[in-house]
Amino acid sequence: MPRPLIVAIDGPAGAGKSTVSKILARRLDFTLVDTGAIYRCVALKARRQGIALDDDARLETLLHGVKVSFRVEEDVNHVFLEGEDVSDEIRTPENSLAASQVSSRPVVRNHLLELQRRLALSATHGAILEGRDIGTVVFPDADVKVFLFANPEIRARRRFEELFQKGTEKPIDQVLDEQNRRDREDSQREVAPLKPAADAVQMDSTELPLSEVVQRIEDLVLSRRRA
Ligand code: C5P
Repeated sequence: MPRPLIVAIDGPAGAGKSTVSKILARRLDFTLVDTGAIYRCVALKARRQGIALDDDARLETLLHGVKVSFRVEEDVNHVFLEGEDVSDEIRTPENSLAASQVSSRPVVRNHLLELQRRLALSATHGAILEGRDIGTVVFPDADVKVFLFANPEIRARRRFEELFQKGTEKPIDQVLDEQNRRDREDSQREVAPLKPAADAVQMDSTELPLSEVVQRIEDLVLSRRRA
């Protein structure tokens, strides 16, 4: 069986990865693997069990029982932790920061590496993985690699609007502060820091509409498929 086509979309929070990946997965009929959601589930489970986010021994035990699955329903990619729909709970600001903290632990990253690869390789047509280290670590030989970024103010504004639509009003400065902290932790950690793969196509969504980003990535996938 030939390997499914692998598309890696990396970049910081708020650059548009989730929106772009979801549209692309639907258009191409590819499996979508939201790798950030997997780290978020680990963080949620640790917090629920009162496990310190740097307690490697207890994190390792927890990881052996973690079961994450996805299901797209009415255009929303629902995330399930051991069968429970945790789509909203994993995205609270507290859990976002906790996800960033557990993701700096090598024991967590190593364990989740295999899970991410397995989810992608079991895809029928192809897989889109969105995250921070897909093109550098999870699939260094991905067929298409994109690094999507945007300036911090624009990213914070998008997050602010997303929260607002969900009924949470938070000062934009606070959104920006939390985002900067997460960016810092993600880019400065020792293992698999956020950085573009040397052979990634870099796209700046500050000015580029997301529909244009989708089109460009789709063109890359189609030309790769023809080749
Ligand atoms: O993409 P999202 O914001 O949902 O990711 C949550 C956190 O999970 C990130 O801040 C990052 O610390 C971590 N993450 C990671 N590697 C990935 C995906 C996410 O370290 N491939």
